[in-house]
Order: sequence, then structure tokens, then C-alpha cells
Amino acid sequence: MPKFAPASARLFTRLLALLAAMAMVTQPLAAQAQGLNVLRDAETEALLQDMIDPLAEAAGLGEGAVDVVLLSDTTINAFVAGGQRVYIYSGLLLEAEDAGEVQGVLAHELGHITGGHINRYSEGAGNATRITLLSALLAAAAAFAGGGDAAMGILAAGQQAALGSFLAFSRTQEASADAAGARYLSEAGISGRGSLRFFERLENMEFRRGISQNNDREYGRTHPLSGNRIARLQEDYIVDPAWDTPTDPDLQERFERVQAKLYGYLAPPERVLTAYPTDRTDVPSRYARAYAYHRDALMEQSLAEVDALLALEPQNPYFLELKGQVLLESGRVNEALPPLREATRLTQSTPLIASMLGHALLATDDRANLPEAERVLRAALGRDRENPFAWYQLGAVYQLLGDTPRARLASAEQQILSGNPQGALMNASAAEQALPVGSPDWIRAQDVQLQARAQLERMAERN
Ligand SMILES: [Zn+2]
Repeated sequence: MPKFAPASARLFTRLLALLAAMAMVTQPLAAQAQGLNVLRDAETEALLQDMIDPLAEAAGLGEGAVDVVLLSDTTINAFVAGGQRVYIYSGLLLEAEDAGEVQGVLAHELGHITGGHINRYSEGAGNATRITLLSALLAAAAAFAGGGDAAMGILAAGQQAALGSFLAFSRTQEASADAAGARYLSEAGISGRGSLRFFERLENMEFRRGISQNNDREYGRTHPLSGNRIARLQEDYIVDPAWDTPTDPDLQERFERVQAKLYGYLAPPERVLTAYPTDRTDVPSRYARAYAYHRDALMEQSLAEVDALLALEPQNPYFLELKGQVLLESGRVNEALPPLREATRLTQSTPLIASMLGHALLATDDRANLPEAERVLRAALGRDRENPFAWYQLGAVYQLLGDTPRARLASAEQQILSGNPQGALMNASAAEQALPVGSPDWIRAQDVQLQARAQLERMAERN
């Protein structure tokens, strides 16, 4: 069966236009990753990277060496897995009161990485960031059908209860991560006040937003807290020259925006309007309401908030991205193109934004837009090859252009990232037969087959 028959590609494209072109696409991890959902958003990822980079540098790992992956989950938690990667829950980001609190947590988690602490989760997490397009669609479909929270419930329920014991470290390891974290904060010139406040509030369970219900203690369960531990941290922090250094105001402003957008995106819309009432015209309030209205399909209200934001900052790529997203998902595809083009340009083709533009171009159903779609998607994949959503769309572009071999190669790329080595093998092999011998794509088709065979062997070993 051809993977990208034009008619079904268009149908699929329309489905995507309705459902999955969100700036934030929830992408469940592979099965062994406990049913956690990765929540992807360009602005949030850029912020988290800027938060961890000075700490990673202080830890001797270097800027960009450690990724932060955001999980869509109301639990207040964070953990490390799969080498140099910190997973942070949206629940923790929403409950933190300032950027310094989050950096305190990140510093501690880096302490687990540099300490070589292995939890049982890490062992099976090699493929933890493999994401599946189909499930992303299902998640989006469920979100549309039953409200976002229902969808998150379905996807997050998984084995949450079992996760605590998987992630737990020993008290010795916790103490060593605390000490290392304190060193990294100090070296990066970040006050330990945030870290301390966060741990103290965890202990007292004084959280303001209250969307996490029974999960408030999770961080404490996986990183055992005690008065003793907090007292020890305080001793380290208080003598540090950075103790009185205020949180970087620029980072704090970005953090408040990201918090607002996550809350607007994740919390029930009526609660968003309580937390960010309509008489508040500051940027975070408008941002949160724009997402909440959009989720409630109140397009005009949503656009009014976005336009007010753009009046303040016409060149803000994330406001432009949101405007494009709202228009695209409301079926105003052609109007979505200019803001998405501008957002793509301003971010030098940040993969998540560029793939939304590629998607919008495809959704116009206009062949004249195909060359631009190809260019944009290739630029996105040039910066991040592990983006199955972009591969899928690039495959659709090639198929519509009549370039079946490259359509099959793109399909194979998408399948290898989505845990479908069988399909990847079939498509990559067919692509290899049809591509010019010795061309870069021909070589790539062979590489994908090797990867697919290796994946199949690992799967066979497990059974
Ligand atoms: Zn810990």
C-alpha cells in the first residue's frame, strides 16, 4: 500500500490542520517510558535550555550538553534518565514561584547526572525520547473530543503509581546531588534561595494553583526530603556569595510567560479565567487567556488577546506563532501563513515553528506552495532530524510532487523514529532501489535499513 496516496495525504493533512498542528504537540514516549507525554513548545524549550546551560557549564558538562524535556503531567517532579537529559513535569513548572526555584531543581538533577546515579528508569530509557506521530494524533483527537484534560488523563494515567519506586534514589545519592547542585548554583552565580524555598514549600505542601491534587508529594517521594536535608542545604547556600543575588529579571519575565501559556494550555479554561481574570492586561494574563479561549474554540476572543500582545511586541516570534496556530486551527489557513513565515524567519527556522509553517503550507492544498513547504521542512529537519511530524509532512510534499522514492525515504525516517522498524525497512529498501546509486539519499536509505534491522534485533531479543 503506498504510504502517501495524494488523496489520503490531503485528508490526513486536513485532519492534522484541525487537530495536531498545535504549537504544543503532546507526544507520548515509547512503551517502556511509562506512558509519559512529552510536551513540545519552542518558547518553553528555549527557556529551559537557557536555565540549565549556565548550570551545565558550571558542572563541567558544557552548554547544550544537557537537554531538558518537558512532560505534560500535573505531578510536581523532575528526574534524570537516558544519560544527559533532565525530565521536568509541567506540574513543577506551574507550581514554582520563580525561575530560581526551577534552576534549583535543575542543579540538583545535574548532581544526579554528574554523580553517575543510575535509577532503574535510566536503564530502559534509551529510546525514551522516541515519539510516535500516530499517538500524537490520537492524543489530539482525544483532546478535541473530550476536552484536553480527559486526553491527558488517558495518556498520563499509565503507570504513574509505579513510577515513584523507579525514580527513587538513595539518601546518600540525594545528599551528594544536593551538594553538587549547591556547587553548580554557586559557580553560576545563582542564589540558593529559590531552591530552598521550593523544598520548603514541598515540605509544607503550600501550593497555590492546586491542579496537582494527590501528586504534590511526588518530588518528595522520589527525592526523599527531610528537615535535616533542608537545613544542610541552607548551610551551604547562605554562606555563598550569590545568596543575595536576585533572580535574573529577563529570565523571570520569560518564565512567567511560559507559566502562563502552559497554564492556559493545560488547565480547564474556567480556571484560567479565574487565575488570569479579564481585567488584567499584563502579558502573562493575555497569553494565558489566548490559549484558554483557543481551547474553548472562542477564536475571536483568542485573536483579540494575541493581537493585543502583538501590539506590544510586533516581532515576538512566539506571539506570531500563536496567531498562526489559532488561525490555522480555525481553518483560516491562508491567513495563518504570514505570521508563521515571520515567526519562522525570526527564530532561524526553529524546528517546531518551521514544521507548523510546513504543515500550514501543505494544508492550503495549493501546489504552488509545495516548493516552499519542502524548503521549510528541510530547514526544520536540518536542525532536528528527530522530528517525525516534519518527516511525515516532507513525505507528503514529495508524494504530491511525484517524487515517490524520496517520499518513501521520508516515510522510513518517520517510522524509524516512531518505533516501526518493519515499516521503515520496507520503505527504505524500496527507496534505495529507486534512488540514484551513490547519492546522499541513497546512502541514507541504506543507513535507515541498518538502523531498522538493529531495532528489530533488539525487539526480538526482548521477546
Ligand atoms: Zn534527587
